[in-house]
Amino acid sequence: VIVKEPLIHQVPEALRHNILLTTVDSVLAWARGNSLWPLTSGLACCSIEMMCAAASRFDLARFGYEVFRPSPRQADLLLCTGTLTWKMAPVLVRLYEQMPEPKYVIAMGSCAISGGPFVDSYSVVPGIDKVLPVDVYIPGCPSRPEALIAAMVNLKAKIKDPKVALESEVANHG
Ligand code: SF4
Repeated sequence: VIVKEPLIHQVPEALRHNILLTTVDSVLAWARGNSLWPLTSGLACCSIEMMCAAASRFDLARFGYEVFRPSPRQADLLLCTGTLTWKMAPVLVRLYEQMPEPKYVIAMGSCAISGGPFVDSYSVVPGIDKVLPVDVYIPGCPSRPEALIAAMVNLKAKIKDPKVALESEVANHG
């Protein structure tokens, strides 16, 4: 059996620190994870914290995520920020369907996770994941801007590393 030497071992020692080996998929995942474009949308009071995250005090722009888009066709991240009613749900799903692949969803706040304080209401969806696939959940009522930034950094890790994505799927769905 002939075991081929890894390619990097064929490169002279003096040059190894100047060479970067990667795949097109890795480069694309790196670019996607570092330049998420959220859709400009808000559902309820958690949206105020989302707006705050994009303002100067918390400065979401530091991470490359400040380009909020007014059209779903230009966005790859749907931030579900707060209470979703059954009446609003088809609109949110339609916006999601209009976003190009690959696309991601963050559920921000107790309402988005489970209906929060309105869980017993006939009009409130008891969790965004009843109608959309959620990538990252952020607890809190409301969730803090720092928590949103942390969630986006976690999403970046998930986009860049399929293993993180798999572990997250198992954690979410058992
Ligand atoms: Fe409002 Fe709390 Fe629901 Fe956020 S989790 S939308 S702050 S009630």
